[in-house]
Amino acid sequence: MLTIHELRAAVDGREILKGLDLEVGPGEIHAIMGPNGSGKSTLSYVLSGRDGYEVTGGQVLFDGEDLLAMAPEERAQRGIFLAFQYPVELPGVNNTSFLKASLNAIRAGRGEPPLDAVSFMRLMRDRLKVLHLDDTLLKRDVNAGFSGGEKKRNEIFQMALLEPRLAILDETDSGLDIDALRVVADGVNALRCQTRSMIIVTHYQRLLDYIKPDHVHVLANGRIIRSGGKELALELEAKGYGWITGEEAAA
Ligand code: ADP
Ligand code: MG
Ligand code: MG
Repeated sequence: MLTIHELRAAVDGREILKGLDLEVGPGEIHAIMGPNGSGKSTLSYVLSGRDGYEVTGGQVLFDGEDLLAMAPEERAQRGIFLAFQYPVELPGVNNTSFLKASLNAIRAGRGEPPLDAVSFMRLMRDRLKVLHLDDTLLKRDVNAGFSGGEKKRNEIFQMALLEPRLAILDETDSGLDIDALRVVADGVNALRCQTRSMIIVTHYQRLLDYIKPDHVHVLANGRIIRSGGKELALELEAKGYGWITGEEAAA
């Protein structure tokens, strides 16, 4: 589904991704871990097409097509969803209206008609039920004054509504207490299916106690330097990143 080959990217003229390779198949969950500043968020932004992240080399194929040639809107329409590490607050923009506009923009890009109000409300109620959430966040402005946990819940709800094919969660667990962590993990698990792939970026092992990844990768200094199964995350927790980055430096 997603093939990243020798990806290089720069921010402000400084190279951050330095030849990154990653392959994600349909329905797979990949965890990406790594030290702070290693390029995890940069990778997420490059895949979603954010301004200011300049691709300087390599390729990314999504369903066999050149993802990097697509505008950010087209990537969203094709089913790429990014949950931000720091969700943006939009005071004055009602959350429900925002979600409806987002969904209908994606539908329009696919040549589908907008959902009418009744169908949209039905879909919202259905997704709230799947995630065991109530509708209090929907009546408020987008993320405005939301706690860290509420912002993350809202990101997961957006994901449930937009039904992405590839969801990228960038440190969705940072700053969450254990209850909020469970909400995120339960949401991810509820949305897990054979056609939806996920890249879960996390600094800590603990999220992976609740979300069982198929593959775990270590991103350091702009490259994937180690890949393994769930056990790699436990090893990282026990030993830190130094042993891998040290071996890498020695090699
Ligand atoms: P991670 O998410 O792994 O902590 P990032 O991708 O956020 O790492 O950052 C990787 C490096 O790129 C860091 O050194 C960071 O300072 C730099 N960087 C990221 N975004 C920007 C930006 N918008 N402007 C300048 N430097 C940036
Ligand atoms: Mg960071
Ligand atoms: Mg980051």
